[in-house]
Amino acid sequence: MPMQDLLSRLRQHQSETLRLLETMVNMDSPSTDKNLVDAFVKFLGPQFQAIGGQTEVVHSDRFGDHLVVRFPGPGTSRVLLLGHTDTVFAAGDAARRPFRIENGRAKGPGVFDMKGGIALVWSALRQIGSFPRPVTVLLNSDEEVGSPSSRELIEREAQSAQAVLVLEPSLPGGALKTSRKGVGRFTVKATGRAAHTGIDPERGINAIEEIAHQVFELHRLSDPASGVDQSASSERGVAGRAGSESGEELATKGVAGFGNNAAACAGPSRHALPMSRSKGR
Ligand SMILES: [Zn+2]
Repeated sequence: MPMQDLLSRLRQHQSETLRLLETMVNMDSPSTDKNLVDAFVKFLGPQFQAIGGQTEVVHSDRFGDHLVVRFPGPGTSRVLLLGHTDTVFAAGDAARRPFRIENGRAKGPGVFDMKGGIALVWSALRQIGSFPRPVTVLLNSDEEVGSPSSRELIEREAQSAQAVLVLEPSLPGGALKTSRKGVGRFTVKATGRAAHTGIDPERGINAIEEIAHQVFELHRLSDPASGVDQSASSERGVAGRAGSESGEELATKGVAGFGNNAAACAGPSRHALPMSRSKGR
């Protein structure tokens, strides 16, 4: 089907896409809540079945179950469409600020990252209808925490695919995302020494104060020129993002170099995928 025809059909059916997006956004699916993500996957599976997909739920003990959907097509040259069902938003967020459309813009927790992407995958596959090659959709449930329980599954599915498209929604301009930053999570620990404020305050070491210093140090490591971006948060520890391997090394060394009373652990959990382009087949 020519792209222009596909686009006009997607536009004709936009209200159904938005309805699916609304239902998805109004269901919380935080990475850390297996029950909620499982319920989300239970809802989503039949949506893909209804448009001709064969679904398989891959169990995960700690995180939500992963969803694999297969659309048959001739030949063995398979395309893998990759996405995730989990979001960074907490249980109850959807009730507090449910899906809405304001000034032509859809809003709500996870509407961009990446329930909007799932809605587009579903709509595009629905309109294409029959495929010139097999298509697999893989939606993992722990992407926002580094894909610890789905990594093997993703690697297995990707290895036998001709092409893998990660269908996170695009940036302004609408282009397909073809590169990504690597991510590493670090935990910075500070150990204090107890002392009495009235008797011997000079003997004490305040761990909170030390962490405050380290947060400033950490933010100094950010270096837009080498694509390194470090941020600290109370909920998620320290997250470092880097656009290249050299950037990753820089970010890791920087955090590991925390001296004095603080120590950092861990390193990159997902490597950067620098920009790459190949001719379509
Ligand atoms: Zn995402």
